[in-house]
Amino acid sequence: MGNSGTKNELDLMHIKAAVLDQMSSPVVVFDGEDNIQVYNEAAKRLLGIADGVTLREFVQNTNLRYLLTPERRRMGRTKEFHMAAYMNGKVYLIHGKERWENNERYQGVFMVYDDITDQENMKNEATYYATHDKLTGLWNRDYFFEMVQKVLRENPDERFVMIASDIAQFKLFNEILGIRAGNELLITIAEDYRRLRRSNWVFSRVTADRFALLMPKADYDEEKIRKEFHRIVSEAGYALHIHNYYGVYEIKNHRLEPEQMYNRAYLALESIKGRLDKEAAYYDERIRARRLAEHLTIDELEHALKADEFVIYIQPQVDIENNHVIGGETLVRWLSPKRGLVPPSEFVPLFEKNGMITKLDYHVWELACRQLAKWTDEGYPERTLSINISAKNFYLMDLYERIVGLVEKYGVDPQRLKLEITETAFVLDVKRQMELVKRLQNKGFLVEMDDFGSGYSSLNNLKDISIDVLKLDMNFFEKTENPQRSEKIIASMVALAKSLNMAVIAEGVEEKSKIELLRRVGCRIVQGYYYSKPLTVKQYEAYLETHGHEDMWNYIQDIKERKMEQ
Ligand code: C2E
Ligand code: MG
Ligand code: MG
Repeated sequence: MGNSGTKNELDLMHIKAAVLDQMSSPVVVFDGEDNIQVYNEAAKRLLGIADGVTLREFVQNTNLRYLLTPERRRMGRTKEFHMAAYMNGKVYLIHGKERWENNERYQGVFMVYDDITDQENMKNEATYYATHDKLTGLWNRDYFFEMVQKVLRENPDERFVMIASDIAQFKLFNEILGIRAGNELLITIAEDYRRLRRSNWVFSRVTADRFALLMPKADYDEEKIRKEFHRIVSEAGYALHIHNYYGVYEIKNHRLEPEQMYNRAYLALESIKGRLDKEAAYYDERIRARRLAEHLTIDELEHALKADEFVIYIQPQVDIENNHVIGGETLVRWLSPKRGLVPPSEFVPLFEKNGMITKLDYHVWELACRQLAKWTDEGYPERTLSINISAKNFYLMDLYERIVGLVEKYGVDPQRLKLEITETAFVLDVKRQMELVKRLQNKGFLVEMDDFGSGYSSLNNLKDISIDVLKLDMNFFEKTENPQRSEKIIASMVALAKSLNMAVIAEGVEEKSKIELLRRVGCRIVQGYYYSKPLTVKQYEAYLETHGHEDMWNYIQDIKERKMEQ
């Protein structure tokens, strides 16, 4: 503290300062411009005040901010206030006084904090406001985190989930129906949480339209929560459609900071914000990785390539008639010491953007070839793998040279390496790329059209490009409102592929009902979670041991020549 002035004034100030520092209660004074003017030792210790702190920084995350909003100031009304605050496990009563010049010009605010934790009035109003949210009566943010810690400490062996919720377009709701209706909605939600509560539930209104909930995992039932919410909203009679998002984080480590648990739940929620087909999202490392990817740099990727941090996973492709594996797709993963296992969606686009995709793809193809050579050595020459070729690589490298060079280097039979390409490869120079594909096929490679039916697929392309295998995109197998139509579309795709002598692989199949559907329409090869997620090489080898392996090449030839009914 300090100020300029004459000698006498200065002496007086030093005396005042010494007196203030003797007080065990924090004292702070801000001027009309919200700059700190006076504070004592206790304020420094408890509130972390330092020279240069502004009022805005000071009140962040405390309930004081309600009192210090510009609207209030303009009204020139608040002269004195008493508020409670919960900090570091203690309850403080804040006595505040504002100074106004002629009831017009705001000149600053003076605050003294009284520690009332041990006083008799623990249960009085002050304590209540220190720990509760005024509007809904739920616990406030700070106290919520304290209670979460307490419940977790007392139940070390029980599993818990942290849920963050947020109402879509709440601002709009307020604007259209008014603040009062908005408040009523928040109160209704709060009541509902209260009604549903069971032992060891902790919940809070964190801010505005965001609620947080801790509950034992055993109590968590997404369906129920969603239904309950719909019920409240429809009973409240709002004409607007209200969408409440939930993010769920399953607590793995009870000692993580509760605030971090909440942040993770909220991060999950953010991943579906704006989507009307989803209400709940679960936190997983992928969500975290996606966040991290935003800061990925080219240097980091280059280093990762050099340090050999990219590995291959393999997803089995299965014959639905006998569960035999007929091949696998090579999918790249980044095993980063810093970021964990990172999926291609996080980094492939970046590689494509800066042209480094040539290096990454070549690296992955090389890993695939090495693996095929190893299997041949070990007595499994019939095993096949497919590799992904970025459309960019049709333009950035001499594809034929590089791929043929690789199989020769590792002594791999081209029939064992299937090439997955996408339609975008043909966008610029159809003729040249078609010739390239033809040359690769003549060399013995099978060529597959990946993601067929996603984006702007053009059936027209199929007429000119002779592809061996059509990979039906997974969006054909997503949940739909109209399963009959969806089945018809899939059936005609399969029929079309057959009529053009192509085999079909259905990608992204997760449910049994879809397997039945594929059987009905005559598609017999499936790659999807229903059978298996992408596996490490070791896991894939184990999978082959239990499921058996067929010779892909013969299989595809048979299908193409229609010796075998697909
Ligand atoms: P893709 O080539 O279409 O590969 C299939 C993707 O679908 C894989 O995702 C796989 O894990 C996922 N998938 C398979 N079955 C299911 C299912 O039943 N449900 C769901 N939800 N997903 C399923 P992944 O491994 O994350 O790869 C994503 C994309 O990244 C690939 O799509 C491919 O376009 C690209 N990619 C992967 N590896 C490479 C590579 O080495 N080079 C290049 N250029 N791109 C690659
Ligand atoms: Mg693929
Ligand atoms: Mg695909």
